[in-house]
Amino acid sequence: MKDVSSPCEIRSTCPYCGVGCGVILRPDGMGGLTLRGDPDHPANYGRLCSKGSALGETVSLEGRVLAPQVNGQETDWDSALDLVASRFRDTIAAHGPDSVAFYVSGQLLNEDYYVANKLMKGFIGSANIDTNSRLCMASTVAGHKRAFGTDTVPGTYEDLEEADLIVLVGSNLAWCHPVLYQRILAARKERGAKLVVIDPRRTSSCDGAEMHLAIAPGGDVALFNGLLAAIARQGAVDHDFLAHVEGFDAALAAAEAQRLAPTGLSQDEMQAFFDLWIGTEKVVTIFSQGVNQSSSGTDKVNAITNCHLATGRIGKPGLGPFSVTGQPNAMGGREVGGLANMLACHLDLENATHRTAVQGFWDAPTIPQGAGLKAVDMFRAVGEGRIKALWIIHTNPAVSMPDADAVRAAIAGCDFVVVSDITGETDTARLADVLLPASAWAEKEGTVTNSDRTISRQRAALPVPGQARADWDILADVGRRMGWTSAFDFQSTAEIFREYAALSGIAGALGRDFDISGLADLSDSDYEALAPTRWPVSAGKQGGRFFADGKFFHDGGKAKMLALSQRAPVSALDTEHPFRLNTGRLRDQWHTMTRTARSPRLSAHRPEPFVEIHPEDAARLGIGASDLVRLKNATGSAILRARITSAQRPGELFAPMHWTGETGPTARIDALVPAVTDPVSGQPESKAATVSAAKVEAA
Ligand code: SF4
Repeated sequence: MKDVSSPCEIRSTCPYCGVGCGVILRPDGMGGLTLRGDPDHPANYGRLCSKGSALGETVSLEGRVLAPQVNGQETDWDSALDLVASRFRDTIAAHGPDSVAFYVSGQLLNEDYYVANKLMKGFIGSANIDTNSRLCMASTVAGHKRAFGTDTVPGTYEDLEEADLIVLVGSNLAWCHPVLYQRILAARKERGAKLVVIDPRRTSSCDGAEMHLAIAPGGDVALFNGLLAAIARQGAVDHDFLAHVEGFDAALAAAEAQRLAPTGLSQDEMQAFFDLWIGTEKVVTIFSQGVNQSSSGTDKVNAITNCHLATGRIGKPGLGPFSVTGQPNAMGGREVGGLANMLACHLDLENATHRTAVQGFWDAPTIPQGAGLKAVDMFRAVGEGRIKALWIIHTNPAVSMPDADAVRAAIAGCDFVVVSDITGETDTARLADVLLPASAWAEKEGTVTNSDRTISRQRAALPVPGQARADWDILADVGRRMGWTSAFDFQSTAEIFREYAALSGIAGALGRDFDISGLADLSDSDYEALAPTRWPVSAGKQGGRFFADGKFFHDGGKAKMLALSQRAPVSALDTEHPFRLNTGRLRDQWHTMTRTARSPRLSAHRPEPFVEIHPEDAARLGIGASDLVRLKNATGSAILRARITSAQRPGELFAPMHWTGETGPTARIDALVPAVTDPVSGQPESKAATVSAAKVEAA
């Protein structure tokens, strides 16, 4: 990698999405910074999207929490952390380890995640640590594990540029992963690759696509079952590759039986898609929240992978199933064990050999025997009083969780709530008993992993303000105060990373995919200079694609195809709730707008919350352009500005998930999302609530 020309320039990684673009930061000496895309970073080669390029507008200290607070009063770190340690210790002593929980975030760096996971699973002895990444990609994790034996992303970003056909399923890549979309468009110009978008809405990703399939919500399993049946019917099965696959006959029989399940598409539309997919060897099927955020999300992932396995279209350049992650370190959280059902390094909580290996490596007093509470169940347990001490780190569940009003009430009623964040102004932070000032993106050291398994350094460019501290440092300090002095005697992120990489060597020896043991001996200066590196990194293994050798990670080394049936979304339409509500992201906002709202130019893109509605529905309800509309169902209500558009299917609505607000009829859209989940992954069904819609008449 080239040297950065100026010593005042610092290479880091954008903190917004799973593309993981490299940025070059230039501090201005007055607490601000300017930046540009890193021309050498393999995720973006210098490109940035609107959010990434506005990062410099979001780093002011306005609204930052700069000192620990207990019950709203500023205090010192010793007092605050002694209180946290003693309340967690006392709660565990009185009610057992499963009476406490951590709810963390894809904003955490790998090193933060590693310490949090080690503290909860190895020392507290509960698996009650889950992450807001549960809301974005847990179904992919479960689908990968069912198909491949491990949570392995088979391909790389280069595959997207080498493909002759890109299929976007439930992904508005143009808005949610813009730099990847730019890479695809650039490659299309050169190679003429075709683009198909499968999405109930006509999104910006459809601009220039050869085909848009406006599928009915929940129709994905039927569509890909139909594709599998067509693959068999049209003689496109790769029988040589099936030597590496189990379950083909059962999967095909289920697909044939489901051939006529409803998709909302015509037979001609489906056949045109089948012919294009089957007739193109190099096809990458990209999927995201439209697949994952569903009560059948895991089945949708497997319906897609079934088609790639049946045709041997995996593990080679320019083809394969490819999931894109929402957050900058959602992938790292998966790897480091930030999910309640995983151990570190893709080792499994359910596997006694894996548990023993991790416990031994950590020299830990205990290890949980099975999965902890996943996000939705965790907050249900908080509401029911079964979780009595909760630590929420860098996330805003009072706004972003399904059934958000109930989650807010649960947090408010919890015996002891700790919040670590950069601001005390989120709906969740206002409910904290103890508020801990954490360092922000531009002040942090560590690593993140992007959607194609590339580990990149995040480097501090600005001084840490006030008394703020890094998350790993706060967590390790609490671990020591709880009595585990040597296990949490970390002095730097480099030290944590070396321990993590060494543990991954054990995972590799146990046949897991995640192995970065080749980085376990990095010196501090090597770690400081670490260039973007795609895992695995170990003796004999280096980056690249998985499965080129036809070897998978199930016992026996074969992949598995699943027999799948279509299931409708859990919430049923009825006369009282006749609209299906889809929720999602906007191009220029991020999560609950804690950062992006600071940039006037980002906020100018869509300045206020809205609901998109088809012209026929609007006319029937007497709703005109810019009227206010009230959405309502059993869990909540919201009032939003109408945007009338035929991009929306009749009977369906779309509203962005970013806006916050107090209890009552506001724009807090997750108040309308029911707390129903995929039974395998635990991921909430965030795109299929049912609601009523009515014009708000002027008073
Ligand atoms: Fe940041 Fe994602 Fe935009 Fe890249 S595509 S600049 S990672 S928000």
